[in-house]
This record gives sequence, structure tokens and C-alpha cells, in this order.
Amino acid sequence: MQTNILEYLDASADRVPDKIAFADEKTALTFAELRELTRRSGTYLARRIEPRSPVAVFMEKTPLCLAAFFSAVRAGCFYVPLDTKMPADRIRLIFDTLHPAFVLYDEKNAENARAVAGEAPSALFADAASAEPDGALLGRIARDHVDTDLLYVLFTSGSTGVPKGVTISHRSVIDWADWLHETLDLDGTAVFGNQAPFVFDNSTLDIYSTLKNGATMWIIPKKCFSFHKTMMQFLEAHAINTIFFVPSALIAIANSGILEHTRPATLKRVYFCGEVMPNRQLNVWRRALPEASFCNMYGPTEITDVCTYYLVDREFGDDEPLPIGFPCKNTRILLLNDENKPVGPGETGELCVLGTCLSGGYYNNPEQTRKAFVQNPLNTAFDERMYRTGDLARRNERGEILFLGRKDFQIKHQGCYRIELGEIETALLAQAGVSNGCCLFDAEKDEIVCVYTGAEDESALAAQLKTKLPSYMLPNRWVHLDRLPMTINDKIDRVTLKKSHIG
Ligand code: AMP
Repeated sequence: MQTNILEYLDASADRVPDKIAFADEKTALTFAELRELTRRSGTYLARRIEPRSPVAVFMEKTPLCLAAFFSAVRAGCFYVPLDTKMPADRIRLIFDTLHPAFVLYDEKNAENARAVAGEAPSALFADAASAEPDGALLGRIARDHVDTDLLYVLFTSGSTGVPKGVTISHRSVIDWADWLHETLDLDGTAVFGNQAPFVFDNSTLDIYSTLKNGATMWIIPKKCFSFHKTMMQFLEAHAINTIFFVPSALIAIANSGILEHTRPATLKRVYFCGEVMPNRQLNVWRRALPEASFCNMYGPTEITDVCTYYLVDREFGDDEPLPIGFPCKNTRILLLNDENKPVGPGETGELCVLGTCLSGGYYNNPEQTRKAFVQNPLNTAFDERMYRTGDLARRNERGEILFLGRKDFQIKHQGCYRIELGEIETALLAQAGVSNGCCLFDAEKDEIVCVYTGAEDESALAAQLKTKLPSYMLPNRWVHLDRLPMTINDKIDRVTLKKSHIG
């Protein structure tokens, strides 16, 4: 019976002690080394803080950063990754909510970490890792653990401007790692090429599949996402067979044209999640890797990364939407209308989620928790929590779920037309000249604003969209950019775009 995610680490360290677990260009940690590091620095932390306290980790994205996460867990605590590039004010906002019991940092971030830590005790991870392991102490902590204890808290942007800390338990991540193993055949032969920052929940696929299965995860250097030839060389040099990228990263590679002459031959699985994956660019990948499996996964941080998935099993035209598919095992999806009733076939509803994958809520934020995590309105007999994603979806005639956009991207245009901006985006991204883009709504002026990169030819684009969309869905304003602003998770940064182009 699994109750602690570290049981996966310990079992892999027993089975394949000398195999590389996590590596980047400078450091490689075997499973045995990783276990030893977590026992040392876990002991250091356990002597200083109580179990079940938050440990903030202020470190570069390296294998040692992961060792710091698992050290917190070894001490019976939970980890909170911080983006080292985040402005100090935002970290202070996070700390106001989190009140970290301890801050771990690396050499590079020592000064900033100490400055933001304030009253909280802090230490260089290397110092913590020089402690002698205390097996008896760690054993007592492990025996007191239950699987509903928190594993991590990830801070997301939050519409109020105050970051919200999504709490995730061991149980939810054990379920997630087991599901990946069972459904996607992720086993010890997997070699992951990791793109997602550790502050982004997509990274949990790579990290926890590696721990569970005794696989290997390579952190792909940032430069590879700008220089695609270097990316191809990196994938090949490390025999990477599995990637789980945010669509923007896959789109950029497809747009660069490199896949037309360079085939990343070792790649067997191309998975993605986080935003819409347009079929035009997916088709470029599929032509380059006809033997590979492709999976569109969907989910917000609040449900432990992924709650629906679609293993691409048929051909799609460039302008067709790609389904987000079916609920993962042990996850129930409800599509509810404004009256909280299940929608009929083909009707649009808010995608709501139930199951073990659900977060326990936002850390120290009961108000926001109550808004998003609610009683299942279809159950009046006992307490059953449901997460409202704020996303709109419908089922197609095959029973597959289609993502339609955020509820707040559903607009009322010209007084009467209800439009999902996502639908316009699907048509936009299918156009040959467009590299990437999105649509915004200027409610004050009642204008649909289309922001895009690629060849600058608005009249040609408008003419092409006219053949795909009704006239009331056509953008009223076009903004051509050389580059789109991206969030730290490498998704299109719509908040910044809205500020710059709508105000
Ligand atoms: P995050 O919590 O940062 O992972 O963001 C979650 C949101 O990203 C979801 O609520 C969706 O709006 C969007 N999202 C995630 N996966 C997909 C997908 N496969 N297709 C379209 N949108 C997605």
C-alpha cells in the first residue's frame, strides 16, 4: 500500500541504485545518491521544524532543486517551489500567505533568498545536505505520515492579483503517477526531456513518473527552446523518448520548419497540456514522427495536473479542434449548465471535476477555496467536493470532450451573439501565415481583438477567416507582434496582452 511518494524513490533506489534519476548539463543524480541526499537534508530539516510545515525552495531548476523538494518531504513537510526570477514583491505576497517554516536556497540565489526569507529560518541546501542521516528520526516521521498530508503547494497567478497556493496531497500524486504508468505505459524505459518549470504542475508528470518507475529525466536547457537544432541534438544525445511540453513549445518547433528535415528519431511519446494544441502544428509533428503516440491532456493545477486525456487516434484537418478526450480513471467529469444541471448531448457546460485528484483547496485562503471547491450540486445526501474549473466544454458525437475556452472568454458580442473566443482562435491558428496568436475582447468598445505572430497580412487573414467563421465572429482589430509575451510556464500571457492592447 502506497501512502508516501518517497516510497517510490526508495523502491527505485533499491532496484536501480546506480541509474541516473535526474540530470542536467552539469549534474546527474542516481537514485541512490538522491535517496542519500534526501536522508541527509531531511534529517537537517527534521531537527529544526515540525512535520507538515511548508518549506519554500528558492533554487535554480537543477537536479539538486528536486533533491531539496524531497528532503522537505523526508522531514514530513511539504515543498513550495519559488521561481527565482519572480519579483521580490510577489514572493513577499506568497510568504504573507504561506509563512514558510524554512527556506532552502542555492549559492546563486543566496542573497535574494535571505532577503525575502525575513524571519523564516533558511539554509544553503549544500549545508543541509552535509548533515548525518538519522534513521530513527526519519523512521518516526514516516510512521506518522498519512497519504492526505500535503506533498506540495504551487502558487498560481490568481485573478485578484494575489497568488493562490494550490495544495496537493501525496494521495493525489500517487494516483497520478499510477495512472500514467497504467494508461500511458510509462515505465522504467522512459527517458523524459523535461520542459516544464518546477513551479508549473506539468513538471509533475516527468518528476513522479521518473521516481515511480526508476526512469530518467533530463532537464532540457532553456536555450534549446530558442535554437531548435540544439534541441534536436539534445534529444538525440540523451536518447530522449518522452516529452510533455506546453503546446507553445511544440508550436514553435513545428513553425521553425526543422521537423521537415530533422527527425528526433528517439522520440516515441509526444504529450502536451496547458493550452490549446492546434492541429496544423500537431500535423507537422505527426508527419515527422508517424510511429510516435501523441496525447492531448487537459487539467488545471487544482486537480493534480491532468483530469482528461485524448490519445490521438485518427486524422484531423488543420482547422479541426483536437478533443481533450475522456476522464482519467478515478476521475469524474461533469459538464454543468448555469442552473447546475448536466448539459444535454452537444450542449456547452462548465467542466467540473470530482475525485482523488482534487486539491484540498488554497493554502490559508478559505474564501477563494469556497468559491472554487463546492458541494457537488447533484448530490444532496452527503458531502462531496467538486472543483469548478471555469472552463467551458461540450461532448461531440463520439462522446469525446471538446475544450471551448475559459468561461470568462465567453463573450456577448453585438448584444446578442454568444461567442467562445477559443473558436476564433482555432480558425486563426489553422491559417498558414500565422505562427501563434490569441483573441481578446474589448468589452467597452465591443471589439474582438486578434493578436498574432507570423506573416503580417491582415487583409489576407481576414479574407481567410471569412471563409471559416460567421461575420459576427470576425476580429474587429488586428495586432501583429514579432513575439508574444509568455508566462513563466511558457503559455501565452493574456493578462499582459490585455493590459497592452485593451487597457
Ligand atoms: P494551469 O492551472 O496553469 O495548468 O492552467 C489550467 C488551464 O489551462 C485550464 O483550466 C485550461 O483553461 C487550460 N488548459 C489546460 N490544458 C489544456 C488543453 N489541453 N487544451 C486547452 N486548454 C487547456
